[in-house]
Amino acid sequence: MIEKIKALAKEYEGEIIERRRHFHKNPETSWNEVETSGFIAEELKKLGCENIVLGYGGTRCGVTADIAGSGSKCVALRADIDALPLDDEKDVPYKSQRAGAMHACGHDSHAAMLLGAAKILTKIKGELKGRVRLLFQPAEEHGIKPGAPTLVEEGALKGVNAVFGIHSMSNVPSGELRYRSGPFMAAADAWELVLTGKGGHASTPEYSIDPTIAVFQIGSALQTIVSREVSPKDTAVVSIGGMRTSSHVFNIIPERVEINGSVRTFRPEVQDRVEEAMRRIIGGICEAARCKSDFKYNRVIPSTFNDPDCTELARSTGELVFGADNIKESDLIMGSEDFSFYSRVAPSVFVNLGVGNAEKKSDMPHHSSKFDVDESALFLGAAMHASFAWRYLGQN
Ligand SMILES: [Zn+2]
Ligand SMILES: [Zn+2]
Repeated sequence: MIEKIKALAKEYEGEIIERRRHFHKNPETSWNEVETSGFIAEELKKLGCENIVLGYGGTRCGVTADIAGSGSKCVALRADIDALPLDDEKDVPYKSQRAGAMHACGHDSHAAMLLGAAKILTKIKGELKGRVRLLFQPAEEHGIKPGAPTLVEEGALKGVNAVFGIHSMSNVPSGELRYRSGPFMAAADAWELVLTGKGGHASTPEYSIDPTIAVFQIGSALQTIVSREVSPKDTAVVSIGGMRTSSHVFNIIPERVEINGSVRTFRPEVQDRVEEAMRRIIGGICEAARCKSDFKYNRVIPSTFNDPDCTELARSTGELVFGADNIKESDLIMGSEDFSFYSRVAPSVFVNLGVGNAEKKSDMPHHSSKFDVDESALFLGAAMHASFAWRYLGQN
């Protein structure tokens, strides 16, 4: 059957590329994917999908639908569909036609590949021993209100036994697959700190409480968390992103300093340890410096955990679809993915599809204004989606 799925994917390749170009030309940013979602829902209707739900989080963004064979098992396939708020600077016929919106992370290819997989699975529906849930998820790139937890809260994963997802990667050679069991992509936390002292004249520090001194100490002390408190066998990053003083004048000691930053970890135990250490260090330094502190630590995106059994199924399926020479274990990735919210509620696996090809200029970094994908890899992604579903539901 895998050979048949691959042949169907190749047969639909033109359509998959055409869809990808349609999405690329008409990008919509997080929680604005109204036309994209409408287009997808229309296509799924044509395919005869069941239980089509259009719109999540009180919007018209996001689509879920089922392809129901016979049997009670259910596997979900996920594609994120949002673009990023930047201008497309490529010179290609399918360049974004909208200022300030661009598919610079490849989510256009994700949507097109999953539509391709839906067509393949519809074709073999009579032989499917279970149900496939298609998740076309909005707002993966939205740092504050990601789409995945909204889909989970609103029941899109009800009855789902496993979730599979693919991300196109421009730094992986085109036509190759990367997998990793266990922790895969980092948790992304955001923190902010407001330090309040007592402003005054720069010439008479004895009448002020200078919050900048506390900030400088905190800046260096935070770096001891990774070097001295986290085990060298674990991975963590603590970074300061922004810094602002209440006045920006050479002869004024500012009243207030605000800083913020990001923490990346893989294991929840390490995440707890870093947060606890930050609170302790900031509290101690502020007390010593007589400053008041207001510290907020926000766990935004959890780490993506690939279930070992699902990963093994993805690896062996990848061998059949891509050939054993074209699949490799991935390194840990410090970036984050809201797919992690699915991996918290069902055994899940997230893999990377190589779309990097220097000759086709598709090796630009993700989120760059010249980002592109090698479209010749997309039929493999569609075949991988469909093959994973087929094999998960019990066939080989
Ligand atoms: Zn991205
Ligand atoms: Zn992405």
